[in-house]
Amino acid sequence: MKKHFTGPAIPVVLIFTCCLFIAPAVALAQSANTMTKEQINAALDEAYTKFKEGKEGKNADYIKELARVDSRIFGIALVTADGQIFTKGDISSMVSIQSVSKAFVMAQVIEEQGHQALQDKIGIDATGEVFNSIVAVERMRGKEINPLVNPGAIAATSLIKGADSSAKWKSILQCQSDFAGRQLSLNMPVYISEAGDNLRNQAIAHLLLAYGRMYFDPVQSTDIYTRQCAINVNAKDLAIMGATLANGGVNPVTKKKVVSPETVMYTLPVMATAGLYDDSGIWYYNSGLPAKSGVGGGIVAVCPGKFGIAVVSPPLDEAGNSVKAQMVIKYVVEKLGVNPFLVQPK
Ligand code: GLN
Repeated sequence: MKKHFTGPAIPVVLIFTCCLFIAPAVALAQSANTMTKEQINAALDEAYTKFKEGKEGKNADYIKELARVDSRIFGIALVTADGQIFTKGDISSMVSIQSVSKAFVMAQVIEEQGHQALQDKIGIDATGEVFNSIVAVERMRGKEINPLVNPGAIAATSLIKGADSSAKWKSILQCQSDFAGRQLSLNMPVYISEAGDNLRNQAIAHLLLAYGRMYFDPVQSTDIYTRQCAINVNAKDLAIMGATLANGGVNPVTKKKVVSPETVMYTLPVMATAGLYDDSGIWYYNSGLPAKSGVGGGIVAVCPGKFGIAVVSPPLDEAGNSVKAQMVIKYVVEKLGVNPFLVQPK
């Protein structure tokens, strides 16, 4: 009896002992890699309550129509790489996407022409200047700008494939829509307002042309760029766009392949180094996430393999980034412990 008993008893003791050590280790690993629905909802709720009453910042007003947008709009959305959607606050109000579109047009250029073309024809280094700086173009004679500030963005728009202006615009609108998982449309008053007052962007496009760094008619390229900036989105749209990048280029809600994993691989580093204009370094230092902001008040950030998170709140800081959006995203990243650079030693 004893033999029969002791035989199986050794493995049982071994398994039991192993479990004592392995179980907590597995639990620890899981808590580092997975977020429960409750944790995500709690993080969004807390962030919303904590920052809701903030009065800092001011709507952009250099585009007249943006000054008229309700500055109380405040919406948060997080969409996981497997397509779960979490929202808090106002996710129905639309704002113009503005510069957030630049990250996705950049991805489209990489997808259409390859990453080397982007690097050679535009550049990928942060300029360290405000987003509509002419000095940044002049200093490098049109070279080494990047697609996430106006000069590089207008050049990126000029590179989009299409026989004419209308084909290029349709292609951009379709690609942004595929990222968002629904048909997006133009905010006509914002487009008209900016189109009537975009001499500075036209000057940038012409200066790039003078340096041989504009790849389609400068007036038409600036017009398509102005349209692309006036696409209407809410926080949920932006979060799904971010989640598509987090999921290797496949929209996790519609399951449509928008761009390749390699395109995402080249898109995210530029968002990390230049996504928040001349405050990109401060942002990346504090959040660890590639992101893109726009003067309409939206910011989208991407946690690769995990989720896209977006906030819409129009009041901006001096650099042109939404004050509340930055605070909320940083808070949620910290709360969920998902900064990709936070590694627990083995
Ligand atoms: N359409 C705006 C512009 O060109 C976009 C700027 C932005 O969002 N930073 O000025």
